[in-house]
Amino acid sequence: MASEILKLTAQIVISHASMTELAPKELVEEIKEVYNLLSSLEEGMAAPVAVAAPEKVKEEVVRKPSVPLDEIVKEKYVVCLECGKKMRTLKAHLRKAHHLAPADYFKRYSLDPKKYPLVCKEYSEQRRKLAKEKGLGERGFRRKASS
Ligand SMILES: [Zn+2]
Repeated sequence: MASEILKLTAQIVISHASMTELAPKELVEEIKEVYNLLSSLEEGMAAPVAVAAPEKVKEEVVRKPSVPLDEIVKEKYVVCLECGKKMRTLKAHLRKAHHLAPADYFKRYSLDPKKYPLVCKEYSEQRRKLAKEKGLGERGFRRKASS
């Protein structure tokens, strides 16, 4: 079987050498490398060192939002950075339309959830009031409607 590998090695190296200028020494090195690689492949060990380059590239590339970030959280709406839609709250939309969990969404655009919530300002204001009425989390919000 070695002859088969030799043939293959020769083919690979020749085709490489025809594209790149290789010094004789490099050529020899390359022949050895390719030969070893092919042999080990044939033996069933998938040549972990030579072939398997680190496969972890980047888990998820951060996307650049198509909308300026100070435009995405407004009084009456928030903008979905995936599709540009405007709505009062994005959470359900993200899941339904883009199959994204909020955490993934924030990660994808490297957003700060505190700075860019998934609800419009009015909505979070309402929620805050509601929570206050229910007596939840009002500590620190003790400003009376003055005047
Ligand atoms: Zn969307």
